[in-house]
Amino acid sequence: MTESTVQVVFPRAGAVEIRAVPRPQAGAGELVVRVTRVGICATDLHLRDGHIGDPFPLVPGHEFIGVVDEVGSDDHRGLVPGENVAVEMLVPCQRCERCREGRYNLCAQDLDTPGPGRQLGVNIPADTLPYSGGYATHMVVPSQAIVHRIPDSVDPDAAVLVEPLAVACHAVTRGRVRLGDSVVIIGPGPVGLLCAAAASAAGAGTVIVVGGRAERRTLARAFGSTAQVAARGDDLVTAVHGILPRGADVVIEAAGSVDAQRDALRIVRRGGRVVLAGACGSGPTLQIPSDDLLLTREIDVLPSFLSSGGFEPALELLASGRFPFSSLVTHVYPLTDVEQAFADIENRTEGLIKAVLVP
Ligand SMILES: [Zn+2]
Ligand SMILES: [Zn+2]
Repeated sequence: MTESTVQVVFPRAGAVEIRAVPRPQAGAGELVVRVTRVGICATDLHLRDGHIGDPFPLVPGHEFIGVVDEVGSDDHRGLVPGENVAVEMLVPCQRCERCREGRYNLCAQDLDTPGPGRQLGVNIPADTLPYSGGYATHMVVPSQAIVHRIPDSVDPDAAVLVEPLAVACHAVTRGRVRLGDSVVIIGPGPVGLLCAAAASAAGAGTVIVVGGRAERRTLARAFGSTAQVAARGDDLVTAVHGILPRGADVVIEAAGSVDAQRDALRIVRRGGRVVLAGACGSGPTLQIPSDDLLLTREIDVLPSFLSSGGFEPALELLASGRFPFSSLVTHVYPLTDVEQAFADIENRTEGLIKAVLVP
């Protein structure tokens, strides 16, 4: 097979190239997946700009779904060509203590040194291993990767949201959201809206979505939000206490800012849970009056990193059709129009929620 395939490559910080490469082959235990859709994540833009380490040359893309194209010898997953699959971006070693206790998002094995784990499309340089990211027509899936079959009952237009929805499901699980709980979600981006859906599905009674853009707050209602608030700081505290006088049982911070993290700690009730699900970058530092906000109120602060165990409930929720997931996918581009898609995201194009590439 000498068929040529296409990859988007970040060869160095600030650069984007489209390359024709030979079709990859599946080694022992590996799969070749033909990518059908890949979501564009803010992380991809940070990677392009060199804000997240130096993984270059990199094939980005961690929100991908596809079809099994080739199964290598010794595949242990029982997959056959033609099956629709979602692949988790985290490639766990499956041997370390964290992997064995099911928290494989904390896998201690990195490429060389302890770090944030091996992530397809994020930190595995294309010249070190054959594994690449999802901005490609075809990709090699390593033997240790976790692969999920996508049920036929999942709307094909919504299936590409499985990774961000898995992140949302993990955040809701971290927050131990229970029947009747009041949940506040700060940040109505795709993950925030999906957190509203996941919290609602977990049985939350009141789901308040906090954010500045009016059209996002309107959309939040379709994703299980019972109230919406556009305020920050003191005004947010007042607004939330107007709805929940004792504060929220659970607050999920999905905006990725230390100001929002501080707000989250202020609007949670005594003894409540605060989930930190948004990445703030390596610069900002959270400063808080720790006795007043944490110690004397016994707040559980629960950082939520990517997902482990999130894909299963995410696929179930997608299959349920309970929320209008595909309405979040507002912009679809051919893979080769990646730079146009990036520009539209950076220009905050009106109405753009989730942009998706089709290889
Ligand atoms: Zn992402
Ligand atoms: Zn591990």
